[in-house]
Amino acid sequence: MADIAFMGLGNMGLPMALNLVRAGHGVTGFDLSPAAREAATAAGLALADSALDCVRQAQVIVTMLPAGKHVRAVWEEIVGAVPEGALLIDSSTIDVESARAVHELAGAQGLLALDAPVSGGTGGAVAGTLTFMCGGTAKAFAAGKPVLEAMGKRIVHCGGAGAGQAAKVCNNMILGATMVATCEAFVLAEKLGLDHQALFDVVSTSSGQSWSTTSYCPVPGPVPTSPANNGYKPGFAAALMLKDLLLSQEAAASAGAVTPMGAAAAGLYQRFVAEGSVEVDFSGIIGFLREGTLID
Ligand code: NAD
Repeated sequence: MADIAFMGLGNMGLPMALNLVRAGHGVTGFDLSPAAREAATAAGLALADSALDCVRQAQVIVTMLPAGKHVRAVWEEIVGAVPEGALLIDSSTIDVESARAVHELAGAQGLLALDAPVSGGTGGAVAGTLTFMCGGTAKAFAAGKPVLEAMGKRIVHCGGAGAGQAAKVCNNMILGATMVATCEAFVLAEKLGLDHQALFDVVSTSSGQSWSTTSYCPVPGPVPTSPANNGYKPGFAAALMLKDLLLSQEAAASAGAVTPMGAAAAGLYQRFVAEGSVEVDFSGIIGFLREGTLID
């Protein structure tokens, strides 16, 4: 069992830290927000008063923060205070460039590092069933895997520094584009007088099949667990999908990849979120497509 510092105790971080405690690790948490600190204390998590106090005795440090700038700032602050031989894991979803920059920062101090973003959302964080997509050396992956197993059910080594973030943005670019395409097909079907269930029965077993239809169908009925049956409450909020699509476009621009479908999906989610749909599930974009709100 390891001494673990966990920084960033928000919607994802707190339940992840609690799963580490349940697995028998010694966990000390830190968050800047008084509300997050209060929730963590109420849940029984031990807290440090500062980022530096949090990491001084830790063998493993996990960060679960909003964006690349937060991760860079925290890693820059703590990297000199972390014990020799420690492993730093960032599980936030951030840009590939920042992920590679913090790997370098850790490497320069002789520390092990992994970028290990997750999929599975808050439900997966609570249940301990997240998928971790990891980037880093084989040595860092071997050191991190037993810790990540306390919070997830699939731990995948995707390659070197930044490969986990690369896998995450590629996956979510596919998800954003297929969700828009699936919503468009259901709206077209409505206008052609085709029943939702009939379209589902065909698409879910035909060449148009994807996770967006079979596991997360954007209309009520065919998949009882999808947010469409729950007033489009997230699930996976449209604002988070937008964040990931923008990261995919940033990555595409810096790598020189041509991603017109990803760009179109990013543009549509930008408009959907700008209309106030921040706390709506990303499959709720079907309502805007149906009303033609997104058409100039
Ligand atoms: P959140 O906003 O609920 O939590 C982030 C926490 O980080 C906050 O409590 C904030 O106070 C804290 N924080 C910010 N700066 C800090 C600092 N310098 N030191 C210490 N704490 C600091 O966000 P979340 O939903 O928990 O998401 C965290 C990350 O996981 C994001 O990168 C997000 O994109 C990713 N993610 C979220 C989901 C999801 O469904 N929520 C799913 C997959 C991935």
